Amino acid sequence: MSDQCDALQNLINAFTTLPSVGAKTAERYAYSIINMDRDAVMFFANSLINAKDQIHYCKVCGDFTDKDICNICSSRTSDTICVVKEPKDVRAIEKSKHYRGLYHVLHGTISPLDNKGPNDIRIKELVERVQAGDIEEVIVATNPDVEGEVTATYIAKLLKPLGIKVTRLAQGIQMGSDLQYADEITLTKAIEERRPL
Ligand SMILES: [Zn+2]
Repeated sequence: MSDQCDALQNLINAFTTLPSVGAKTAERYAYSIINMDRDAVMFFANSLINAKDQIHYCKVCGDFTDKDICNICSSRTSDTICVVKEPKDVRAIEKSKHYRGLYHVLHGTISPLDNKGPNDIRIKELVERVQAGDIEEVIVATNPDVEGEVTATYIAKLLKPLGIKVTRLAQGIQMGSDLQYADEITLTKAIEERRPL
């Protein structure tokens, strides 16, 4: 038992499990929760539980959704699929409000160092989708790092023999940086000026 209040320490510990939250920030968060009224804390807690219970992969694209099929898959018709590493990347591209095609979320990239091969990410589902639908172009928008490039090359090798145009985002997004940190203008330009693979 510490000299401090255990319940407070537990709350601080819970916040430190989040990315980019250090001890000081966790402490600030914990105190601000304690100062909220009970309804506000309940709303906060319920939002966490509901998100965890209701959010799963879209049956078609693999993005997060609380329905069977996500809003984008159920409302858009397009012959273009943009392939991304993570759901966060869909949000980043959607924010640029320029791309109006479909998405496919891989939930990872090929990474031999982490023992992650093509079968560990949603590449098989992508090939099945392309074979089943009227898809003409696949834009590979994995991050411009080694894993992202290896994954893009692998996807191009699989899809080009099927008669699909496979493209890659134009340079502009810094090598080694994450797609989600690119600003909207850079992202729009990278999509517009995509190059064939
Ligand atoms: Zn979807």
